[in-house]
Amino acid sequence: MDALLTGTGGTDGWPEAGCRCASCLRATAAGIRRRPGRVVVDGALEFRPGQPPSGGTGTSGAAAHRIDPVPGGWDVTGPDGARLLLAGGPGQLPEPQPGAAPYDIALLDLLASPAQLGLLRSAGLVTAQTAVAALYTDHRVSSAAELARRCTLWRARPGTDGDLVTGPVPTGDRGADDGAGQPRRTLIVGGARSGKSTEAELRLAAEPRVTFLAAEPAQSWTGPGGQPDTEWAARVAMHRARRPFWWQTVESLDVAGQLRQQRDALLIDGIGTWLAGVMDEAGLWRAGDGGPATGSVVPTGQPGSRPPSEVVRDRIDDLVDAWRQTAALVIAVTDEVGSGLVPPYPAGRVFRDQLGWLNQRLAAESELVLHIVAGRVRPLPG
Ligand SMILES: [Zn+2]
Repeated sequence: MDALLTGTGGTDGWPEAGCRCASCLRATAAGIRRRPGRVVVDGALEFRPGQPPSGGTGTSGAAAHRIDPVPGGWDVTGPDGARLLLAGGPGQLPEPQPGAAPYDIALLDLLASPAQLGLLRSAGLVTAQTAVAALYTDHRVSSAAELARRCTLWRARPGTDGDLVTGPVPTGDRGADDGAGQPRRTLIVGGARSGKSTEAELRLAAEPRVTFLAAEPAQSWTGPGGQPDTEWAARVAMHRARRPFWWQTVESLDVAGQLRQQRDALLIDGIGTWLAGVMDEAGLWRAGDGGPATGSVVPTGQPGSRPPSEVVRDRIDDLVDAWRQTAALVIAVTDEVGSGLVPPYPAGRVFRDQLGWLNQRLAAESELVLHIVAGRVRPLPG
């Protein structure tokens, strides 16, 4: 089966005529022009958003294809049994019927929802043999380069006008399906509200199996006096609602254990909350001026117990060891805390120093390190 993409843009194409947004002006400057999305299947059937399919100019004949409308699009089966899933228009997410067979071609609005691709993969309806292309692309993304970057992560092609998409993809043309567009270890560094969690979630959105590890003590949202911290709880709830519903969520400080156990995609958010939790468990926050956890001795309230700094040091070493050896496709989010003011209290300085050193050690053992500033992604040279 083949699908000729005679147009790949949104309702008004990309760039949109008369639009002065940065994305459209960038596309214009780069000579990019995408007509409104339109697809011709096997030369026999033409699909336009909001219209029933019409006969094309091919010789195979539209009658030979079975066309099933599904919520959000079309499910098409060719005379040879080949299968196509097509988003019905911009913003539409086609939902296959229960029991549907896997698709050979999937043409989706990935800017509306890359997670829909992850859902189709988790259901086995999109496989390594499915040719996946983004359709209805427009100024929702900042540039064609950003679209291409995302599509690589999502193992899809950024459809361009005139593309002929052919499926199934022959065995051998693709590597292992899961995570093939990603390095094994990615460390994402950024300040508060820089967009680092969003980037991490976007990178894994099209993966079929993802564990989200909230690296914090379970039910940790209490204030300094032990009272419920409703603001924090609301923030956690918002983050959870943003994630695809089929992702598994684990709340734990045992990040090393998860790194050793997981084989699929693992998102750790984040290293800063993990370190704060580990310092809290060890009593380093309460121990006053703990000094760097590497080797200094800190008095504790329990005779014979190990100094908190040693406990924290061992946990950090264990985390770095597990990170080095993990079999998971892992993305960790961490805070850049060294650029602000020097914390006025000793424990704050210990935390800042320990996190800075830990970030360096994790970065040294990562295939990819990204710095996020104002939502913009900057890969750091290795
Ligand atoms: Zn625009």
